[in-house]
Amino acid sequence: MKRERSHALYEQALQHIVGGVNSPSRSFKGVGGGAPVFMKEAKGATFTDVDGNSYIDYLAAYGPIITGHAHPHITEAITRAAQSGVLYGTPTELEITFAKQLKDAIPSMDKVRFVNSGTEAVMTTIRVARAYTGRSKIIKFAGCYHGHSDLVLVAAGSGPSTLGIPDSAGIPGSIAQEIITVPFNDIDALREALDKWGEETAAVMIEPIVGNFGMVMPKPGYLEALCQLTRSYGALVIYDEVISAFRFHYGAAQTYSAFPDPSLVEPDLTAMGKIIGGGLPIGAYGGRKEIMEQVAPLGPAYQAGTMAGNPASISAGVACLEVLSEPGTYTRLDQLGQRLQNGLEQAARHHQVPLTVNRIVGALSTHFCEHPVTNYEEAKDTDGEHFAQFFRLMLDQGINLAPSKFEAWFLTIAHTEQDVDRTIEAAEHAFAHMNH
Ligand code: PMP
Repeated sequence: MKRERSHALYEQALQHIVGGVNSPSRSFKGVGGGAPVFMKEAKGATFTDVDGNSYIDYLAAYGPIITGHAHPHITEAITRAAQSGVLYGTPTELEITFAKQLKDAIPSMDKVRFVNSGTEAVMTTIRVARAYTGRSKIIKFAGCYHGHSDLVLVAAGSGPSTLGIPDSAGIPGSIAQEIITVPFNDIDALREALDKWGEETAAVMIEPIVGNFGMVMPKPGYLEALCQLTRSYGALVIYDEVISAFRFHYGAAQTYSAFPDPSLVEPDLTAMGKIIGGGLPIGAYGGRKEIMEQVAPLGPAYQAGTMAGNPASISAGVACLEVLSEPGTYTRLDQLGQRLQNGLEQAARHHQVPLTVNRIVGALSTHFCEHPVTNYEEAKDTDGEHFAQFFRLMLDQGINLAPSKFEAWFLTIAHTEQDVDRTIEAAEHAFAHMNH
């Protein structure tokens, strides 16, 4: 597959944009380097690049595009918003509609606030938790990624681990001291950390279902124990649902049927983003009334935003949730996911390629290893060279994956059985041609 124009554009981009990309996870550094593909158009599950090649897309823009690209209902909502002015700086009625839509699906949130990205949403939940508890430390989990604000970029997963940057430069040691990182799915490790720092801990922050070192479920009883233990030290539970909200069902991880008693896994604060913006920039956070009332103008914790709640993002979000609320949406994603998982596993067995597939509904991750992947250490301990080969062999057959062994594949409602079958055929070919 020829990608001459992508190569030429990358050379130009390098002159003007740092690293040629506007987010490091878009670079091909983790898969052997070189020019990333410059896309020109996206429709449904299909990407077309600047050289005219087409690809079945499993990146879904790192998650938000669950309806497929340029979904007509969302496109219409954005067009309508654009025609009435995209930014007001005043309250609008649609913000209330959207807040109610989110609260109905995720009842742990009495009040919400819209921001512009997942990073902002997470960053603010930390400030609010600190304001509410009067404490400063945060406990997080190895490999969970919570955006690029200072505090949570210590021992993060996803982009930073792919690029081999354990801690970002530019973060003062005094800030790094405020965060404690423990392994995911290990309740004893959390208990130890709380034993030591519990009285100083404002919150325990977690991706309740992980999307940043592959798709990883908490072990049965783990989240329940985490919530109970955290509260016994007077700390708050923050869920980062930036990937997981509306990913597995019409609701969040905290309301997902994998957790039989939702009251036992309910967080105090929730951060969201990605899907809820229908592809436009958005973030949101919410939680219990008395905690959220810490936020200005009601309380002393300050958070603001010129673009926050802009009519374009809110319209896209409302429209996206309307699409997702249609009956059968998640059954469809689950069926496609099952078909893809079965096909990949079978093809790997056929070619004796060690492969572990983790899947939750329409999101899955491929790990080149024999062992299960239940935490970050296990996800790191997989064959990156195999993934890089696989990634390139898939790309050359028109299958677009995220260029990192830690990122998930996301199915959308625009994918078809034929797309999935073509992907499996491509994987057969890739496995047959990998050096292993
Ligand atoms: N939290 C999680 C769980 C994420 O996966 C991400 C982004 N990948 C973020 C926060 C940050 O979101 P954004 O990129 O919108 O700032």
